[in-house]
Amino acid sequence: MTMQTPYYQYDMALLHETLDIAKTQASRYGYTIHYAVKANANPNLLKNIASEGFGADCVSGNEIKVALDNGFNSQGIVFAGVGKTDGEIEYAIEQNIHCIHCESVQEFHVIELIAQKLNKKVRVALRINPNVDAHTHKSITTGLKENKFGMSVSEAHSILIEENRYKNIELIGLHFHIGSQIQNMEVFKNLALEVNRIQDELHSHCLPYLNLGGGLGIDYLNPTVNRLANFSDYFGTIHKWLEPGKGQSIHFELGRSLVGQCGQLYTRVLYTKTSQKRSFAVVDAGMNALIRPALYGAYHRIENISKIDQPVNQTYDVVGPICETTDSFGEEVLLPATERGDLLVIQSCGAYAESMASDYNLRERPHCVFIPNYELEKT
Ligand SMILES: *Cc1c(COP(=O)(O)O)cnc(C)c1O
Repeated sequence: MTMQTPYYQYDMALLHETLDIAKTQASRYGYTIHYAVKANANPNLLKNIASEGFGADCVSGNEIKVALDNGFNSQGIVFAGVGKTDGEIEYAIEQNIHCIHCESVQEFHVIELIAQKLNKKVRVALRINPNVDAHTHKSITTGLKENKFGMSVSEAHSILIEENRYKNIELIGLHFHIGSQIQNMEVFKNLALEVNRIQDELHSHCLPYLNLGGGLGIDYLNPTVNRLANFSDYFGTIHKWLEPGKGQSIHFELGRSLVGQCGQLYTRVLYTKTSQKRSFAVVDAGMNALIRPALYGAYHRIENISKIDQPVNQTYDVVGPICETTDSFGEEVLLPATERGDLLVIQSCGAYAESMASDYNLRERPHCVFIPNYELEKT
């Protein structure tokens, strides 16, 4: 039977292996991990991640709802985002989630007013923009002064000194998130040192909560060799350099590193053609199924699994069917001689592929296949 392409294939055994290692490494230091739902909100993945006891990091009211619907405990949910609507804040308060990560002074006042109206006390942590360079792609750097995320240390200070004025907010601590796809542990060391400095300045060691966000990267170049992110170095680096307050609980929000390698996008070659300069393989998946190359110039490894035994000695621009020049998965990709009908696999599509999919050009979104056959086992 030939499977209808394109489709995402999720390796649930690898997902669980990844989750187990992340959990084991985090628990060495008593750390808590919240899965960043925006990386992939596929219900089947969410159910499996929730069943392993992870919390959830949500960036919209709908993500909170989907997390709750798929088994996450409301007490394990945190909620960030620069543009939370009043409705989303109200919903988060009503669901009694662990805390809201507040990103501006104005938002803080809005949260207080909404909590007052609901006659509830809501836990809030302040998201601080620590001005640490993630040394990653500029579109996925979030912790620099010029980024829109979070508030400055002095703004956080202005809130903290008036803490007693806010009757409907329990200020539990600080939150940081500096960017994504970070593989250089120096960056996390710098984050830990900067957090120490900011905690000193704000005297926040006495607060019970500290969240260092996510951003741990995966190996897009060699996904089959390095299937697992370096959780041991990551948590080890933070543990080595961070000086938390006594009894402060340390939280992380990992997305890509938990799900990135367990997903692949399968797509079939529709046509090949050669212009004066280049050969093209036109495939049946488009940027609507995987937008990272078009959006960030991101690299994904591509293989032709119909010609697995053939010498890899040709180059193709692997492009989609969508009417945009950026609808490309890679330029001059090394492949075996490739023909119409060949099945290509695009690696490392577990994170920010399905969750960023659209129906642009009114194309169908790819369907999902789970191996081993979890869908049948679990539903
Ligand atoms: C996107 C995001 C994350 C997860 O980032 P990854 O790079 O996928 O680990 C964590 N926290 C916040 C606030 C985010 O916006």
